[in-house]
Amino acid sequence: ASSSSYRGRFAPSPTGPLHFGSLLAAIGSFADARAHQGRWLVRIEDLDSNRAVAGADHAILSTLEAFGLYWDETVVYQSQRQALYQHALEQLRQAGLSYPCACTRREIAARGTPGPEGPIYPGTCRAGLPPNRSARSERLRIDDVAQGVSDAIQGHILQHLAQDVGDVVLRRADGFFAYQLAVVVDDAEQGIHQVVRGADLLASTPRQVYLQRCLGLPQPAYAHLPLVLGEDGRKLSKSLAAAPVDPRNPLPALERAWCLLGQTPLDATPSDVDDFWRQAIPGWDLGRVPKDPHRIGADEALTP
Ligand code: GLU
Repeated sequence: ASSSSYRGRFAPSPTGPLHFGSLLAAIGSFADARAHQGRWLVRIEDLDSNRAVAGADHAILSTLEAFGLYWDETVVYQSQRQALYQHALEQLRQAGLSYPCACTRREIAARGTPGPEGPIYPGTCRAGLPPNRSARSERLRIDDVAQGVSDAIQGHILQHLAQDVGDVVLRRADGFFAYQLAVVVDDAEQGIHQVVRGADLLASTPRQVYLQRCLGLPQPAYAHLPLVLGEDGRKLSKSLAAAPVDPRNPLPALERAWCLLGQTPLDATPSDVDDFWRQAIPGWDLGRVPKDPHRIGADEALTP
């Protein structure tokens, strides 16, 4: 891709203040975009209004600014883009690639075979709704495909979608569009070339690529950054060590993140965040980012 056409993005869910794991994703995607003289967009993934915390979007955006992570273009909110997702859903329906589903979570748990993320949908409503049942959700019809993705950091991954994932939900029983549909529609609509995000989304990538194919959308390149885990091996965002990053003292966390991303330390002590980025961007090398998760011990402070 030519340097000027590069478009990257950071897509936080506004469920609370920015924590270190999300900061790492923001930094990785920002650095890669800036090193390619590309654009870096921010998209607030607030589709699920039950999970969104009032004011968290503003807190995240002001924290990004405090870290010198200035975005291009207007921040978009998924909650305001329902028409785009609806349109994509209709396209899938018309192509016979989606179907209404009446099953409850309990029914799926009782009949589905176990999969890596929970029971695999047993296909009950694939051939039509059972008598006297009405649609709750809408699902993607996934045939027995092995979907590969090559990831710039994690290497090539292959997933057997029918066995490992099953017919994914596109519109949930509570009426919200599913993240998997929205992310694919938005990345295409925003012209994203390179997705740099946390490795917690690696297992979702083959189904996203499959969905892009179903919708006839271009496929962005992917790079999944190593996760930051708490001492107990749990995702940092869920562990006790998941402290929000401190926007009043950004430099230590920036330098820490830079080092966790395998990058060469700066030559000179940066005077402020803008100076940090001035020095850091020319040295950014995606090829140095480690693949494996990093564990942070309870006694190890994120910001010295
Ligand atoms: N909103 C998702 C999250 O915060 C990220 C989605 C993405 O980067 O594709 O986990």
